[in-house]
Amino acid sequence: MQQCYQCLAPLTAENRSKEHIIPNSIGGRLKSDKLLCKKCNSNFGEDIDTALAFSYENLVALLGLERERKKDYLIKNLRTESGNSYHLVDGRIPTPSKPTIEIDGNRISIVARDKKQLREILDGQARKYPGLKNIDLSGIKSNSDHYLSEPLPLKLTFGGATVFRSIAKMAVNLYLHRGGQLTGLEGILEVIRGKQKNDNHVHHYRIPEQLEGKNDEVYHVITIKGSAEDKTLTAFVILFSLNGFIVNLSEDYQGTDFINSYSYDILSLKESEEPIKFDYPGKAVFSAYLQKETEAFHLVNLNAIKRHLIRLSAIIDTRHTERSLDGIINSSLEEAMEKNGNPKIFTEQLLADFNNIVSKRVALWLEHLDLRENRVNL
Ligand SMILES: [Zn+2]
Repeated sequence: MQQCYQCLAPLTAENRSKEHIIPNSIGGRLKSDKLLCKKCNSNFGEDIDTALAFSYENLVALLGLERERKKDYLIKNLRTESGNSYHLVDGRIPTPSKPTIEIDGNRISIVARDKKQLREILDGQARKYPGLKNIDLSGIKSNSDHYLSEPLPLKLTFGGATVFRSIAKMAVNLYLHRGGQLTGLEGILEVIRGKQKNDNHVHHYRIPEQLEGKNDEVYHVITIKGSAEDKTLTAFVILFSLNGFIVNLSEDYQGTDFINSYSYDILSLKESEEPIKFDYPGKAVFSAYLQKETEAFHLVNLNAIKRHLIRLSAIIDTRHTERSLDGIINSSLEEAMEKNGNPKIFTEQLLADFNNIVSKRVALWLEHLDLRENRVNL
């Protein structure tokens, strides 16, 4: 009989649910329907998985990750040094947080995020200026060439006790999904439920070189080792090739030796079950971490995170460059086509117009490149 590992209710056709081993909010795709009942799945979803999603939402937006429930990415309310506030649409295009309206005589100038917002503003102003009510907006194109004259600092924060509960759940998910037994997991389940303190684990464990990811790979990894001899069951979870966590699944492990891994490149969507060679730290790592034994321990880890973050920002930069140039080229072609009455074939005039439009816009884009310099402060 399969049962919900949280409330132990038998899993039936009615209450069975599909649990993401790694939440889809951070790009996870692998699912299992033999782990949690609907109720427990949704309770965790609202609670700890939401905290995890919130913690990584800016990074997810910057990377432009594929998710099952399509939502627009909007990083909200970033403030420049001079105090102007912007949203980043699609994780990269700045737009003023609040729309601006300037009225000068019979001229009205409005900056809005999209047509919907523009319509709302026009309707709002229509009491004073009735002529604004019926303006046709269909001809207006949204323009993605928005550049700022000063950098937009973005803070990323990771971790915290609630987020860790969600991370521990990922490890338990994979362990049980791959045939592990519930016996011995009582302690970690209490941690996931928030009933027990969760300090016997390691946050920000350095990621071994072979698991760092190469070039433009960004990995979520879960790798689990159970040792019959040591009676330990330990998971190493890596998120975004950036944050490593050692989860102490059981210190009273009664099972046989168990090795299992799952790695997932969140950009290429490639999954792998290949065993991962990794030297699991022994029990000593938990006490070393607990005692905050040495500053050096934390410094080494902090420096590693910094290095990973720099690599990630380079990947983000490349992806943004591709998407920006793609956008410029596509909409420039559209504009040139329209200007030439949408001809069926490429005319010389069309090519000339396209060249003209695209080179101006690319020049403008290049001009603002130096503002996108990535700085990582930890
Ligand atoms: Zn349940």
